[in-house]
Amino acid sequence: TGSLSDADIEAALTEAYNKFKDLKEGKNADYIKELANVDPNIFGIVLITTDGRVFTKGDITSMVSIQSVSKVFTMAKVLEEQGHQAVMDKIGVDATGMRFNSIVAVELQRGKEINPLVNPGAIAASSLIGGADSAAKWKNIMDIHNQFAGRQLSVNWPVYVSEAGDNLRNQAIAHLLKAYNRMYFDPVQATDIYTKQCAINVNAKDLATMAATLANGGVNPVTKKKVVSPETVMYTLPVMATAGLYDDSGIWLYNSGLPAKSGVGGGLLAVCPGKFGIAAVSPPLDAAGNSVKSQKAINYVVEKLKADPYLVQ
Ligand code: GLU
Repeated sequence: TGSLSDADIEAALTEAYNKFKDLKEGKNADYIKELANVDPNIFGIVLITTDGRVFTKGDITSMVSIQSVSKVFTMAKVLEEQGHQAVMDKIGVDATGMRFNSIVAVELQRGKEINPLVNPGAIAASSLIGGADSAAKWKNIMDIHNQFAGRQLSVNWPVYVSEAGDNLRNQAIAHLLKAYNRMYFDPVQATDIYTKQCAINVNAKDLATMAATLANGGVNPVTKKKVVSPETVMYTLPVMATAGLYDDSGIWLYNSGLPAKSGVGGGLLAVCPGKFGIAAVSPPLDAAGNSVKSQKAINYVVEKLKADPYLVQ
């Protein structure tokens, strides 16, 4: 298999960046009002290897809100605290085949046919995470994000306020789960914690560091600190593979072969186990809700580096 050379990685990132930087497809999310105001031209790609090499291209300092990508790290923390059986039994790990905020998905199997990477499962995960009260749970969530990113992250308060005033659908989902005994904390507070977690600010380098920590079995390759166990990563990646990119999760996996997660802020990260984490940021989204440029850029790099784990030559 051989390790990837610096020159090959740099060339792949540069080509991907140049190929897609001027693409004008897609549109910022606007159902959360603040997201419509983010600069659509932000575009950066970062790849970090499991041996700690960092490669960047384009805008890696502009921040976007992490949105649904956060679901991965809260899920990982709940796995770490409760184990894989509890996550399967108390939340669920099956792809819904429905939209990320589907109420029907909750209704069909009385809340059992969901997973932590769609809204119902993610709000359930926020309710389940360790902490006696809302403040303690929030601190726990912020801490795990900081450890994955290897630095102190912050919250985009205007994004939080804009969504918190307009998240009745997520509150409804939380209440319906409560009715089925699958909500493990006050539903209004759990939804609020979830909304705050979605508003954490990240840049492409933060997301790539988080992805690289997953690729490295739970040890952050930049800080060298252990964040979660290899088993936690082992149970996180399959849910990313089956449910990481909304209704296009299958298409994504078909093309890249990599477990990944996108968010409506325009961030996308993907994990090549044992080799590298890669992430891109670009706010305009396609119809499925995934960043147009981020998908194309990462797919290009994966193909160029022959990093699809299903490719056995
Ligand atoms: N906070 C957003 C919501 O719950 C996250 C959406 C996303 O990135 O998928 O609607």
